[in-house]
Amino acid sequence: MFRLLLPRRPLIGSLCLLSAGSSRSCSGSSPPGLPSSQVRSTFLEFFRSRGHRLVPSAPVRPRGDPSLLFVNAGMNQFKPLLLGTAPPHSMLASLRRAANSQKCVRAGGKHNDLQDVGKDLTHLSFFEMLGSWSFGDYFKEEACSMAWLLLTEHYGIPADRLYVSYFGGNAVSGLPADLETRNIWLEIGVPPARLLPFGLKENFWEMGSSGPCGPCTEIHYDHVGGRDAAKLVNADSPEVVEIWNLVFMQYSREADLSLQPLPLLSVDTGMGLERLVSILQGTVSTYSTDLFTPLLQEIHQRSGVQPYGGRTGAADEYRTDMAYRVVADHMRTLSVCIADGVHPGMSGAELVLRRILRRAVRFCVEVLRAPQGTLAGLVPTVAYTLGDVYPELHREADRIMDVINDGEAHFLSSLQQGSRLILRTLDRKNYKDGVFPASVAWSLHRNLGFPLDLVDLMLEERGVQVDQKDLQRLISESQVKSGGQKGVQSQVLDVLSLAELQCLRVPHTDDSLKYRYSLQLDRYVFPACHAAVLALYDGRSLVSEVEEGQRCFVVLDQTCFYSEQGGQSHDQGYFTRDGLQDVLFPVEAVVQAGGYVVHQVTAAGPLKTGDQLQLHLDQVHRLSCMVNHTATHILNFSLRKVLGDSVQQRGSHVSAERLRFDFSYKGLLDVSQLQQVERCVHDTISANQIVHSEELPLDKAMSIGGVRTIDEVYPDPVRVVSVCLTASELLSDRQSDRQVSVELCCGTHLLRTGSIEDLVLVSERQLVRGISRVIALTGRRATKAREDGQVLSQDVDSLLARLSGSAPSSLDSAQRLAKEVGLLSDAVDNTPIPQWQRRDLQGRLKALQRSSNTSVRKLETREAAALAQTLLREWGGGQFLVRSVHMDSLQMVMKTVNQLSAAAPRSHVMLLAHQSHSGKVLCACQVPKDSPFLSASDWAVAVCRHLGGIGGGSELVAKGTGSSNDITEALRWAEQFACQTTER
Ligand code: ATP
Ligand code: MG
Repeated sequence: MFRLLLPRRPLIGSLCLLSAGSSRSCSGSSPPGLPSSQVRSTFLEFFRSRGHRLVPSAPVRPRGDPSLLFVNAGMNQFKPLLLGTAPPHSMLASLRRAANSQKCVRAGGKHNDLQDVGKDLTHLSFFEMLGSWSFGDYFKEEACSMAWLLLTEHYGIPADRLYVSYFGGNAVSGLPADLETRNIWLEIGVPPARLLPFGLKENFWEMGSSGPCGPCTEIHYDHVGGRDAAKLVNADSPEVVEIWNLVFMQYSREADLSLQPLPLLSVDTGMGLERLVSILQGTVSTYSTDLFTPLLQEIHQRSGVQPYGGRTGAADEYRTDMAYRVVADHMRTLSVCIADGVHPGMSGAELVLRRILRRAVRFCVEVLRAPQGTLAGLVPTVAYTLGDVYPELHREADRIMDVINDGEAHFLSSLQQGSRLILRTLDRKNYKDGVFPASVAWSLHRNLGFPLDLVDLMLEERGVQVDQKDLQRLISESQVKSGGQKGVQSQVLDVLSLAELQCLRVPHTDDSLKYRYSLQLDRYVFPACHAAVLALYDGRSLVSEVEEGQRCFVVLDQTCFYSEQGGQSHDQGYFTRDGLQDVLFPVEAVVQAGGYVVHQVTAAGPLKTGDQLQLHLDQVHRLSCMVNHTATHILNFSLRKVLGDSVQQRGSHVSAERLRFDFSYKGLLDVSQLQQVERCVHDTISANQIVHSEELPLDKAMSIGGVRTIDEVYPDPVRVVSVCLTASELLSDRQSDRQVSVELCCGTHLLRTGSIEDLVLVSERQLVRGISRVIALTGRRATKAREDGQVLSQDVDSLLARLSGSAPSSLDSAQRLAKEVGLLSDAVDNTPIPQWQRRDLQGRLKALQRSSNTSVRKLETREAAALAQTLLREWGGGQFLVRSVHMDSLQMVMKTVNQLSAAAPRSHVMLLAHQSHSGKVLCACQVPKDSPFLSASDWAVAVCRHLGGIGGGSELVAKGTGSSNDITEALRWAEQFACQTTER
């Protein structure tokens, strides 16, 4: 442990001595120094006053970037800008200077600091990154000067505590040292001894295997001071930590790994707020700052364990301190993620979150010995420390607590289940060799979410070890099956091709025709579209022509095709080429890239730039998308009207076949709520109201009362889609309190609501606690769903009527009825019908299922008893009763065996039922309770194996199947086996 020296220059606020492990850090009072809120605001104000636009933090769930599990750096939301794919009229495209404080999670994928969390004092799984950017504006010199000025003058950090690393070049990659940056630092006044060159790993930044990249320069802080700490830079020392990374994007890494100069030079910087705050509050530990102390204090109060001591190391007595850190860190991560819509689940980011939750539960229960519910109880404190900047934490606090409580309860019950499974496995008779089966450990992990180290721990206590070799095999098999982490989705046009298009002054695609349709005599009329090929891309570079059969991406001067965006599927259709009218070029996908609409086409004939095309839109498909999109808006509005204002859209997808809508709501809707929502939608449909679309400046659009927005980057101006009243009417005072559907949306919509014709909610389920998903059909599909619902309802009625007459008298008819009920239940579960009706029918069928199963069971017992009587009469008595019977259900064979055993408790009973049509043999047996030599399971296993099948069971009763065409031989073999075994 070491002590901090007082900084030579006074900081804003006053610093005082504070050792890493000081118990003052969790005394409940604020740590000394500049409060974190002011550290954050000082940063933002510094850059704002230097022309940077302040951009809100993006949610931690990445938007449309499959290469990321979580947002892990401030630049993630600006990636389209660096790649040149930002929509031309968006706020993003107009950015030249920006700054923000970004919520970052580094718990999976390329950046994963989870293994360090709790062990050290500087790596968190959730942290805030203070970032500043220049997009084609200033470059290295201004970036370095501003960073230095802010740290040394505004925050007052002594310059002699700072060290700077820069890129020292790499001969193998042919990359020169970044001497330009070195010189800039020298001029700023950083002494050469504090300017340190590092290699590719530390000081060259790449976005992925291809794309923008460049050298970076990092600022490090020595917490001790008064010495030469150059050797400790980038050496994993807790005393010298990296605080700020300044990246200079100047190259593009090509698919062939070559580096090309980037058309737009950019700066991307990121500094960890918590690390900066720890410096300004005079502590080496991010946990001893005001961002954490209230949380540690709360953990102390709720668990009653000794106060946080701030110690690190592997020793047992430090485990409590580590648990404090893990729980505090994980609770911040969980709260932020759940508020942003990532929930503990079974794959991708959600699986990572599930593990984080379970890790938090373990530390809380095992080390801190805190009662169940402690974790959720910390959510308000997380909201208290971060909620002023991220108000969603206050808004969503109840939901976050519910999700955490659920997850905790589920895990604790899995723990119990798991412990039982481990004990059962250990108690098994044939288990003696000290090596625990890997398959059981793996199943605990896969199915019950048991961390593997926990399995090890529990086994260790019993002196047993998991079969590690076999476990490794299972782990690698599962990785192969899941395909590992998915690669970065290839971009339609790479950054250089987009820049080249811009350089060649290829104009952005005019796609306004997608909105230019009209309604004439109840028919939608879509405009014809003739277009010229402006550019062709073959997947690697821009080309002037493509050959027949080649897949290519086509940029046109104009298009009527809607590109995939805003949750609406892209249009379908095909092109024909002038002069080659009978050759169709089917359009496979349509996407947006930096103002260009790119059509993915497989060339059915040669195609070159300058060719004139006729665009043929699949109008039926388009109209269905329009119907479903407008219906989505009306559904959104109706849900809110019926369920209340707290309902928030959480996602949606519109295709020609159906619409899917996710929203926040506390539970499942009941039958009456489902009906009310449908009725509300129908009212709007039958009123045949006008659907208005209008472009407005973004700030004006946002000020419309009741406007529905989602977490999206909207273009400016933005399109406003409203039902019944125009956006301008809604903005006028007179109409501002009218409740109508109004959303910011770039989709294509109907002109009148009547064209939806009908809407049926065919499914509703909870994705996770607090988030529901409904699926709806419209038009003819909806009507068909209603008709199918009617038919199924009548089927259920008539079945009920039949049953209410009299109970089935024979087993055969009871089984037929049970089968009928089963089939009908399947149909009710799986046919698209109104969801409210499904719930109703499921309820009625459940009762029917229960009563038909009971009568089957009763009649089976009766029949088995009768057959047992006959067999007993024919049998002369003795030690063995081995017979064949005519039965087609293993359950019945077993029941008969039970009856026989009850009547002849000292005999070994086995029945075989031969199925003449298939040759299959069903086998069931029971042995006397005190049979010392022959266990039922050994007997069934042996007989079934002899018949080429498998069997199993317990000591007393067992069953199985095999196949044979000689049942007499099978009976003889079975009896002989039993005789020989009991004689031995
Ligand atoms: P380190 O080497 O310390 O792990 P890094 O090189 O991964 O950091 P960058 O990707 O350069 O970090 O991120 C920029 C800044 O964000 C860092 O200088 C640091 O201040 C902060 N930071 C990065 N990772 C974390 C983390 N896990 N917890 C807290 N702050 C972090
Ligand atoms: Mg770094």
